Formats: sequence, structure tokens, C-alpha cells
Amino acid sequence: MILADLQTGEKAVIVRVHGHGSFRKRLIEMGFIRGKEVRVVLNAPLRDPIEYEIIGYKVSLRREEARLIEVVTEAEAREALVSDEHLQGLPAELEERARLETALVHVAEERSHSIRVALVGNPNCGKTSLFNIASGAHEHVGNYSGVTVDAKEGRFKFKDYEITLVDLPGTYSLSAYSPEELYVRKNLLETAPDIVVNVVDASNIERNLYLTTQLIDMNLRTVMALNMYDELEHKGDTLDVKQLGWLLGMPVCPTVSRDGRGIPELFETVIKVYEQADPKLARHIHVNHGAELEQSIGRLQAMLKEHGDLRSEYSTRYLAIKFLEADRDIEGVVASLPQYGQLTKAREEEDERIKGLMGTSAESAIVDAKYAFIQGALAETYKKYQEERPRRTLTDKIDAVVTNQWLAFPIFVLLLWFVFWATFTIGQYPMDWIEWGVTWLGDRVGDLMRDGWIKDLVVDGVIAGVGSVLVFLPNIMILYLFISIMEDSGYMARAAFIVDKLMHRIGLHGKSFIPMVMGFGCNVPAIMATRSIESRKSRLVTIAIIPFMSCAGRLPIFVLFAGAFFPENPATALLGIYLLGIVLAILSALVLGKFVKDDDLPFVMELPPYRMPTGKAIWRHTWEKGRQYLEKMATTILIFSVAIWFLGYFPRHEGETTAYQQEHSYIGTVGKAVEPALAPLGFNWKMDVGLLAGIGAKELVISTMGVTYAQDGEEYEGMGTEEDTQLQAALKATVPTAAALAFMVFVLLYFPCIATFVAIKNETGSWWWAILLCLYTILVAWLCAFAAFRLGLLIWPL
Ligand code: GDP
Ligand code: MG
Repeated sequence: MILADLQTGEKAVIVRVHGHGSFRKRLIEMGFIRGKEVRVVLNAPLRDPIEYEIIGYKVSLRREEARLIEVVTEAEAREALVSDEHLQGLPAELEERARLETALVHVAEERSHSIRVALVGNPNCGKTSLFNIASGAHEHVGNYSGVTVDAKEGRFKFKDYEITLVDLPGTYSLSAYSPEELYVRKNLLETAPDIVVNVVDASNIERNLYLTTQLIDMNLRTVMALNMYDELEHKGDTLDVKQLGWLLGMPVCPTVSRDGRGIPELFETVIKVYEQADPKLARHIHVNHGAELEQSIGRLQAMLKEHGDLRSEYSTRYLAIKFLEADRDIEGVVASLPQYGQLTKAREEEDERIKGLMGTSAESAIVDAKYAFIQGALAETYKKYQEERPRRTLTDKIDAVVTNQWLAFPIFVLLLWFVFWATFTIGQYPMDWIEWGVTWLGDRVGDLMRDGWIKDLVVDGVIAGVGSVLVFLPNIMILYLFISIMEDSGYMARAAFIVDKLMHRIGLHGKSFIPMVMGFGCNVPAIMATRSIESRKSRLVTIAIIPFMSCAGRLPIFVLFAGAFFPENPATALLGIYLLGIVLAILSALVLGKFVKDDDLPFVMELPPYRMPTGKAIWRHTWEKGRQYLEKMATTILIFSVAIWFLGYFPRHEGETTAYQQEHSYIGTVGKAVEPALAPLGFNWKMDVGLLAGIGAKELVISTMGVTYAQDGEEYEGMGTEEDTQLQAALKATVPTAAALAFMVFVLLYFPCIATFVAIKNETGSWWWAILLCLYTILVAWLCAFAAFRLGLLIWPL
């Protein structure tokens, strides 16, 4: 009996909930659990939803949903009281009511011990052989496709379960192209098997796993029978079965259905998954289709979710993927929705977008993404004994070089080096233009306005503030240009793959590496790039250590200090600083890894084929990042540079030198206030003021110190040549070498900058994380700078 057929007032006990994973999960959360009693409060023939009472709560379910719940009614229990031998043995003194209750529970228990299992797989993977050997049937087995044309059912007892096995026709996929495919799909949805056994031909695993990725989309409870395992062994290939199961989110059981090896284990696993005995055995994963497709899928899914009707029958993610693929069958399903028009319009837009970016339709892009997923999963688990055929595809040829065990790292490092070199050399030109433009604009505006604080605010606060943001835009865009090329061509996936093992040693994933490297350019886009990391833990830890990667904004400070204090070997000093950042990042990853809750589930690192990236896609990615940088960060940086300007400008001391003004301004006052806290590091208040200004942006450190160190009303303005040497000379005259070293260390490590702070908040979704991280960086900075100062004193005594 199904729940939807119960009349008002009737009671029943739940046997099982059918349907896909997220639907079952939702119902279980509502209390629809096996063995629980449910009563119909109101079920009128034309009424939808139906009202139920379960474990003391009233809930309403749509008729569609109630159809997916199997129950035992009191009437059925009464019948069982007469016919079931078990129940006839009940003690005679039991009251009518108690007898009925016992019968209900007994029948529900018994029925839940019958499991419906469907065999799904490619033609010729051995489904019928498995079916025969398990059920004792003698269906025709043939070594050619199309032998099984409709579903055959067989029943057998296994342990104390009754298993109904359904042998379905072989299909390569679950698209709606062939009658077999449609048939299998309908069968999976309509007869709702409790467990799907995905039979996979181990000797032809790559092609077979394509169907598996579609089963994953459908979110059905699946166990994989890795059949023909004998052939895999015979070839000498090896496969990490457990790891593959982990990656795919389903248990994988090696079987040989010719002689029955592994079949009992297969059904034991089926029962475990059915009983949800071990949560580690099966989990719901998403096949990652890459950022662009996932964006399209997400958009359609959100629209489909708005409409509740289909949610019980289909996983909305599956519907969205199929709808995006323009699957004919699903088209019919979606066409029944009121927002069909909107949905088709959205799909057309997304399809156009994908076409523009990837040069292929969404449908074939999805196929490619699924194969990239399979490639990634197999690259981690499957080892061929030997290449039986020569490398033929371009992808194979390129991979032979770039993932070669000796060449992979050198190529990778060389590429990265080139990217950075290009970013900063090419970036220097637009940077100069922007700097020139900002100065020019400041001068013009300055000429037009009357002297006074408003003019100073506009010129020194707003224009200079915006300028300090704009100046990094070329760097960020060029860096992203290269990153996009590496990503879209397919190289980035290999890079992540190459460093994956290494990154695991510090508790991170291969995908953490690229954001870390980008941190050397600018922490902000680096933190934004962590979005591609699936594991929450890896993502948080990666975000936390990126600030230790010395960004380009800190470089001028190091150059200036290294030039002044270590003139013999400034490059070594610079390298040392960068290395210190890296070492601390690694140590922090190890430490923080212990504190972040571990959701360390493995995920597949997709390996897409190499492809010529399209100009449009590259441009779009690059521009997108540039825009994000401007939008999210510009406002904050602007506000803070105005604030820092304000703190340095007020209270006014007209007629005094700029240096005097700086010293007696708010920021000077605060700088002097924090002096005792930083004195153990050897810093003077002028350095402290520089550090305070650096909270807004690291570029402000030098320009601020240029002001505080100014003598005779002369200002030293940062990175020129002559001014530089003046500021350097002033520093050398007043700052001990050990303190200078400590200062470099402190600048490297302390509070990244406001923009990074905001990025951390945005990406982690919590102010707490951002604040905690800042406190952490300041603490680390203080301790390291202190150590540097003390050690420095041993070498360069005062
Ligand atoms: P179906 O199309 O999926 O139903 O596959 P069949 O059960 O008809 O099997 C196809 C062929 O594979 C038959 O010749 C079987 O004997 C053979 N076969 C099935 N399972 C195995 C196995 O585990 N190992 C080997 N070596 N051959 C198998
Ligand atoms: Mg068959």
C-alpha cells in the first residue's frame, strides 16, 4: 500500500521512502522513518496536499510525495494476523489493540526486508550473467549488444532479505536518444528500485563510467559492481577500488559474474547501503562540470526549485543538467511547468554563453566535463600495466611531457616564473601610465580648486586613494589573463594534479596551490580564487595562509629597506623574506589544519582534454576578475584611504611643517600610543605610523614614512630615485639594522590590508574568521619580528 491511498482517519506504519536522495533526506527529516506510525488527518479525493500526523506533528504532503511512501495499513495487519504463522503464535491474552500493533510492526519489518535492486550498465558488461548467477535464473547470455530488450525480474533470498533483481537493457548513457535509454530511465524513476547496481566493465572502465556519472546526477542509491575484474587482473592493471569508491561516493565491489566471485560481497554491500549501516559507504557527490557550466546549471536549478511539483520525482540538479542538455524527454516534463517560457529563455541564454566561451553547445560541453571528471578519477586510482597502444591523441602526447615524473615540476616552475615575470614587466607600463594619469588629474583638480581642506581631501584622499587601487588593476588583470589561459587550455588541472601529493602533506589539496601562488601578486584575487576548492577545510586553511604570501604591494617596502640596510646583497634579503613567508604559511597550514573541523572528503580533480582557449572566454574571465577587484575592493580601499588621510590631516596645525603636522595628527598620536607595544621590536614611532597606515594598503607604508621622516619641510615621496635615497639615508641614520630586519619581517606578516580583510570576510562568509585571522597574523608578526630583532642584534649590535 502507498501512503497516498489511505483514507481520512486511517493509520499505517511506514515501510520505506522511495525516490532520489534529496527527497528521501527531506522526508526523513520530517519524520517519515521506517517503523513510525502515521495517521491521515484529512485526505479528500481532490485535495492536495494531504494532511498527516506523524510522531505527534501535523505535516502536509503533496499527493505526488505521498505516492513515494510505502506503508502497511491496519487492514493489511489484520489479514496478516490470520495468515501469518509468526503472528498466530501471539499469546492469547493480548488485547485486540496490542495484537494489531504487533502485527503492524511485524509486517512493516518483514516488508522492509524485501529490496528491489536494478542492474544498470553498458551492453555486454555482464549484467545478465550477474543476474543469472545471483538469482539462479537461466537468461540468455550473449556476447553482443541488445540481447536483453526488456526488464527481467528474478527473486532470491540473501541473508534474511528477499531481493528482487531487475535486469535492464544495456545502455551507454541515460540520454533520451535510444529506446533502451529511455526505457532504463523510466524504469529507474517509475518502479523506484531501492538500490541501483551499476555494473561496470572493468576492462573498459573509462567508457563505462560515463553512465555512472549520470547515475550520480540522478542521486540514486548506487553500488558499483566492477565486473570482469578477472580481465583487469589478467592484464596486470591495478585499480585502487576503495579510493575510486570514495571519489565517486559509492561503494565499488569487484565481481566476476562468470564464476560468481565477489557476488556475495556485492549483495552484502547492497544491504549495508540499503540499511544505511555505514554513512562512509555512500555519500552524495556532485560531478563538477567546471565553473561556467556549474553556473548555468545553478541558475536553471534555482528556477526549477521554485516550482515544488517536480522536486519529489526528480533531483532538481539532474533536471537542470538534462534541461540544459536539451534532453527531449525532460523537455516534456519541464514543459508542464508554468515558467516553461522563462526556463527556455534562460537555457537559450546559457547555451549562447557557453557557446561563446567554449565554442561548443552546452550539451557537448557537459559530455566533455563528465569525461574530464572520469579522467581525473582514474588518474588517481588506475594504473595500466603497460601502454598497449601508442599514444595517439594530442592530449596524451602533451600529457606525456607535462606530467612526466622528471619534467613536470621544472616545466611547472618555469611557467609560473614566466607568468610572474610577464605580469610585472608588462604590468609596469600601464602602472606607470596610471600613476602619471592620477598625478596629472590631481594637479589639474588642485589647480581648479581653492586651497583648503576640501581640496586636500579631494586630491590627497580621494584621487590618490583611487589611484592606489587602480595602479594594481593591470597587474591583477595580466595575472588573471595568464591564469585563464592556463585554466582554459587544461594545463591548470594538470598543475593541480602534480602538486596534489605535495599539498596533501600540509593537509591541503592540489587546488590550493594556484591561489597560494597568486598571493604573490595580490592577496585579494588569490583569496577570491579559492572558490574552486571543494573541501571547506582546505578552503579555509588556504585563505588563512595566503596573507603570508608576500604580495606585490609589500615589495617596494622590502626593496627600499633591503637597499638601505643590506646593500651588498639585497636580493638575498628579498629572497629570505619571501621564503620566510612560505615557511610560515606551511607551518600555519599544519597548525590551523588541526583546528578546522575536518570534512576532508576526497574529490575528483577533473582532467579535461587540452584545448585551444577562446579569446572570448579568456577576456571574460580576465575582465570579470578585474571588475570584482574594482567593485568589491575599490570602495573599501577608498573609504580607508580617506580615513587614513583624515587621521593624518587632523587636527590641523597650520603653518607648521608637514612632518610636525604628521607627528601631532591623530595617526601620529596613535602611533605614539602603540610605541611601547612595538618597542621590543626596535621600532620607533615613525615606523609605527607607517605600519598603521599600511593597514589601509601596504603601499601607504612608504609614502607615510616619507612624510614622517621628512626634514626641513622636505618630503620624500616613495619610489622615485632621489627621494628614495633620501628616505633611505634618513632611515639608516636613525634605525638600527636589526630593527630594520624586524620591520621587514613585521611588514611581511602583519595584518594583510583592508582589501584582503574584506575579501576574507566575503569568501568565508564570517567577520569572525576575518577578525581571528587578523589577530593571528599580528601575533605571528610580533613574535617573528621579535625573534628577528634579537637575532639581528647578535650580528649587528647597536
Ligand atoms: P550483458 O549484455 O550486460 O547482459 O552481458 P552478458 O551477461 O550477456 O555478458 C556478456 C559476455 O561477457 C558474456 O560472454 C559473458 O560470458 C561475459 N562475462 C560476463 N561476466 C564476466 C566476467 O566477470 N568476466 C569475464 N571474463 N567475462 C564475463
Ligand atoms: Mg544482458
